[in-house]
Amino acid sequence: MSRIDSNNITNIVVAGKSGAGKQPRIDVLKEEFNLEQLSTGNIFRKYLGRFNEYGYKGDLDVFWDEKNQRFVPDDIIVEKLGTNDEDVILGLKAKYFVDKGLFVPDYITNQLFEAYFAERNFRKQILDGYPRTVDQSKFLLGLLEKHDSRIDFVLLVDNSDERIIERTVKRRICPKCGRVYHLEYKPPRDGRWCECGAEVIQRSDDTEEKIRSRLKEFKEKALPAINHLRDHGIPVVTVPGHLEEFTPENVRKSVMGAIEKLYQK
Ligand code: AMP
Repeated sequence: MSRIDSNNITNIVVAGKSGAGKQPRIDVLKEEFNLEQLSTGNIFRKYLGRFNEYGYKGDLDVFWDEKNQRFVPDDIIVEKLGTNDEDVILGLKAKYFVDKGLFVPDYITNQLFEAYFAERNFRKQILDGYPRTVDQSKFLLGLLEKHDSRIDFVLLVDNSDERIIERTVKRRICPKCGRVYHLEYKPPRDGRWCECGAEVIQRSDDTEEKIRSRLKEFKEKALPAINHLRDHGIPVVTVPGHLEEFTPENVRKSVMGAIEKLYQK
């Protein structure tokens, strides 16, 4: 166990390019500090799944107002889609962006994030994939202040673009429990089955073109978002996403070593 008292940790942000290797680090932090994971990517995928189940086959561009850079009003969406199920509508909005490897607009992401963070009392969370724009960072700082909470530090998982592309096209995830596999380094059973029994899938945005687009979004938007937190006094600890010997033991050492250094200062 860590020498840092887990009672002293309120929330942690884990940041990094999509596919940098955040999940194994998050698993360490969850266990060491008794935290829950709040992942905006997983939340969006949940709603996207609801939309896919609904089975709408038409063109999604009709729902987007290009001139005003917004979705058309919800009553028009309800009419065109043929349902007023709020989860399906949110799923449509998420899918429009996620499938292109683009960030979901801030007004949707912030609202959704607040609802989930509030449900968990604004405490004991590992924020995974949020904040990813300066606007989201400002929104988060506002929420923390309002609810007398804090972010103790940001753990930034660093990895090169080329390695990420290599890793991500072979990534598979379990749609049921969220476990993450890699066809070479951590293969699912018979290349198909999760430990929980469900069949693993490839994320719809895990193709090279979409990965490149996400990498661009990271540089242009997510890095400035992290810098914004740093400018507001939140320490940023960087750990390598690639380890020569990738064992659970080495991941733990790398993460906890970096955090302990921060607390020794
Ligand atoms: P992830 O699993 O974190 O890579 O997220 C998958 C996709 O969900 C991203 O490529 C975005 O389309 C969307 N997404 C997740 N988190 C955010 C966020 N904080 N802001 C905007 N879009 C997000």
